[in-house]
Amino acid sequence: MRLSLRCSWIALLALAALPLQAATLLVNAHIHTMDPAQPEATALAWGSDGRLLAVGEVSDLQQRYPDAGKVDAKGATVIPGLIDAHGHMLGLGVTHIQVDLVGTSSKAQILDRLKAFATNLPKDAWLVGRGWDQNHWAGKQFPTAADLDALFPDRPVYLERIDGHAVWVNSAAMKLATKSLDGDWQPEGGRILRVGQKASGVLVDGAQHLVGDAMPRLTHEQTRDAYKAAFADAVAAGLTGVHDPGVSLDDFKVLQEMAAAHEIPLRLYEMADGNHAALDWLCTQGGHWADAGGRLQMRTVKLYMDGALGSRGAALLADYNDDHGNRGILVTSPDAYRSAVDKAHRCHVQVATHAIGDRGNRMVLDTYQAVLGDDAKSDHRWRVEHAQIVALDDIPRFAQLRLIASMQPTHATSDMPWAEQRLGAERLKGAYAWQRFIHDNVPLAFGSDFPVEHVNPMLGIYAAVTRQDLKGQPPAGWLPDQRVSRLQALAGFTRGAAYASYMENEVGMLKPGMRADFVLLDGDPLTVVPRQIADLKPLSTWVDGKAVYQAEKTNAAQ
Ligand SMILES: [Zn+2]
Repeated sequence: MRLSLRCSWIALLALAALPLQAATLLVNAHIHTMDPAQPEATALAWGSDGRLLAVGEVSDLQQRYPDAGKVDAKGATVIPGLIDAHGHMLGLGVTHIQVDLVGTSSKAQILDRLKAFATNLPKDAWLVGRGWDQNHWAGKQFPTAADLDALFPDRPVYLERIDGHAVWVNSAAMKLATKSLDGDWQPEGGRILRVGQKASGVLVDGAQHLVGDAMPRLTHEQTRDAYKAAFADAVAAGLTGVHDPGVSLDDFKVLQEMAAAHEIPLRLYEMADGNHAALDWLCTQGGHWADAGGRLQMRTVKLYMDGALGSRGAALLADYNDDHGNRGILVTSPDAYRSAVDKAHRCHVQVATHAIGDRGNRMVLDTYQAVLGDDAKSDHRWRVEHAQIVALDDIPRFAQLRLIASMQPTHATSDMPWAEQRLGAERLKGAYAWQRFIHDNVPLAFGSDFPVEHVNPMLGIYAAVTRQDLKGQPPAGWLPDQRVSRLQALAGFTRGAAYASYMENEVGMLKPGMRADFVLLDGDPLTVVPRQIADLKPLSTWVDGKAVYQAEKTNAAQ
């Protein structure tokens, strides 16, 4: 008794002799905390562990932390670090080492870019690119191998469509296919476009791998470089977190190395790429793996139900309005899908399924319901990625099954020029229907699906609030009753995304105890005129209380 008393006195004296934990203050800031209990503040304090100590007014925090280091925000607007709930990190990274075709509006323009890029390639290297979209060309027809063959008779060319759901290849690439593409057969979950018996050069969904598998893989070094480039893009856009839907076990091991070497500047929430090695490994980890530094986790599997709307691969309950007899593609057979979901459920892995069409979404809901059974009431946080076109009767089922709708506001504004052609007016009621989901109390997480869309989350917030393109069209917004408020849009990229990754007690709000992840912006997304939301720029991006990005001529002093 006496001994232990004396020991605790010694411990107390030792504690008193320690300096208080070194704190840092952000002052002179205009802070939107996203914490409903205290929405506004002018100062933040955080400790050397990178967690917030206090959120409040400058004078008060200065008094409480007189010895704290100071960061002057010079009046900048501060919001919680933005989280993209659906962004492909490696896909974004490889855009730096492949031909970028985003924004092209004709085949001629694409051929020019390919020609220029090929001048720096070794003689026998594949020419790989992505980002074409025939909807932006005169005629809107799918391209052919012949379009590429004149310029590239020998070099294999492999060009992904903007949505990643189709590739355009030349004859040299088709010659290397793992199986002859000619004839009248079709692969499961995919489609080879042909003229007569002859493959014409476009492979949709489950057909892409027939040529893709023949392509040389990225080296370990190229993979690291691609990830580094993607990290830099993400933090420069104000992202402090990304949910990455689909990583192979090999690529995840690269990320684990990078996390151990403290080379990951933001929080990555990785999903295993289907029912493959990464999911098997995750099952051996009890369904959740996290690094010690809080930058890398995996606890989710990403599965695919159907294709995408642009390439008419989205599975619909009725025919495409502009392609009679076509109801889209199930890229995974219902049996294989069910067994993957069963396996994830057994391993306590969160399930996230890509579903675009109303038939694809219904199959996901039916499968989740059957597999979850009574567990639908538990805190499973299963997700539907995109939930893009949903039958109106099916929207309330998301809430009944306690699912999260992970949606991408820029998909609505990118697809609005042609979505009605594909779907007709009636089905548009359940298309990109954010307000209907909110009305039925379905939690939303917002993202961009980069590199399908731009990595910049301000474009997503702008699209969510206006449902207009960057030219302000259409003037009232497309299907304007589905627009969301600015706070709802910000919540989708902060609290909503945090919830979808079980991190609502860590990130997504600025509140004592939570991580000091925040962004200084050059304007206020809650008050600038709507069009200016798209142009807001991060001055600096902070993760765990450290700047991981600073704009070159930043006003924010460090
Ligand atoms: Zn995606």
